[in-house]
Amino acid sequence: MEYQIPRGTYDILPAQSYKWQKVISAFRELAAAFGYQEISTPVFEQASLFERSSGDSSDVVKKEMYRFTDRKGREFALRPEGTAPVVRSYVENRLDIGSANAKLYYIGPMFRYDRPQAGRYRQFYQYGIEFIGSNNPYYDAEVIAILWFYLTGLGLQKLRLELNSVGCPKCSVDYDKALREYFKPHLPQLCPDCQIRFDQKPRRLLDCKVPSCKKIASGAPSQLDYLDAECREHFAAVQEQLSLMEIPFVINPRIVRGLDYYTNTAFEVIYEGLGAQNSLAGGGRYNALLEQIGGKSIPALGFAGGFERLLLALDEEKVSLGRPPVPDIYVITMGKAAQQLLLPYINRLRQAGIYAEYDPDKTSFKAQLKAADNSQARFALIVGEDELASRSVVLKNLQNGQQQTTPLEPLSELIAILKG
Ligand code: AMP
Repeated sequence: MEYQIPRGTYDILPAQSYKWQKVISAFRELAAAFGYQEISTPVFEQASLFERSSGDSSDVVKKEMYRFTDRKGREFALRPEGTAPVVRSYVENRLDIGSANAKLYYIGPMFRYDRPQAGRYRQFYQYGIEFIGSNNPYYDAEVIAILWFYLTGLGLQKLRLELNSVGCPKCSVDYDKALREYFKPHLPQLCPDCQIRFDQKPRRLLDCKVPSCKKIASGAPSQLDYLDAECREHFAAVQEQLSLMEIPFVINPRIVRGLDYYTNTAFEVIYEGLGAQNSLAGGGRYNALLEQIGGKSIPALGFAGGFERLLLALDEEKVSLGRPPVPDIYVITMGKAAQQLLLPYINRLRQAGIYAEYDPDKTSFKAQLKAADNSQARFALIVGEDELASRSVVLKNLQNGQQQTTPLEPLSELIAILKG
């Protein structure tokens, strides 16, 4: 084949698209019920936006970003994640003016030069929430609630919500020191990436996937023992809010999140049964991010999840997402005059939201009836010589074979039957 799809990408084929539409509309509906509005930003941004927000030393920026230089020599990147662009838009469009909190959601493709495997792609679709404007722990719980109710509402059961606090820049100083003390004697055994992490961001040592590093990291001190009083109080309050909302969670002090901008609350939803790529979604508070990219200091938090893994999990748990749409009617005409009579009516039915299939290439009654059966339409709408003379149609219920004759005018009667 001369042309092939780029590695790590995929086509959403028509037979699958109804599943995507279902999970996307369920997300939109739930987010709207919590008062969140959609925001859409470009798929590319200045590369420096991600360097500044995610951190130069993060894997996303160092190894995974699709960078390009445009014809005028400007450095851009395909967005690897959605938070920095949303925050850029918030700051640039002065969405902070007025007292209201910004409650935002997004849906769209992200790009990372990752090693492709099941549940990991180079272009993948994320759904995400960003809440900007308050440090109240209620909002930590609200954002987590949206994620939790979304996933459980779709029918997933084998879910685990893991919660942690990564503290604030103040309490991180002592924790980073403790981590360096712990890892120092193990330095020669750590992978080359971890050796660099040791100097730059010792916390990333906890996130390494190399088995020998993982083993060493398992004995490292816990972030939770180094929280200052304020961060401890915030963490306790988030847990209390979650309990009030009846959302089950477990504490996992190992959650660090890959990006630099997280403070306090960090969380992840794990789906057991997806193998290595078992993180369905993750997020946390990023109180330092707005200032970091040139805005005012405004507290915020959010999460992002991938639709690909969500669909894999729904498949694994055998949750039905409905089925591809079938026609309400399949139109069968006998002869040219019947065709000519019906054409405007078919389109009027379609304009009224009725899914009508019609294939002018099939002319024999037998071929048309067979096609109607194959299409799984609810009704065959038939116009033969008698109907042509009386300007009416025969509606044949293809499930039970019952037939009724209905006049074409007023069309509202036919529409009422089909919608009933
Ligand atoms: P992150 O932005 O890395 O915190 O990822 C949030 C969520 O996005 C993950 O839990 C996954 O569901 C999804 N995700 C991240 N990277 C990929 C990828 N390369 N392919 C598919 N889904 C991804």
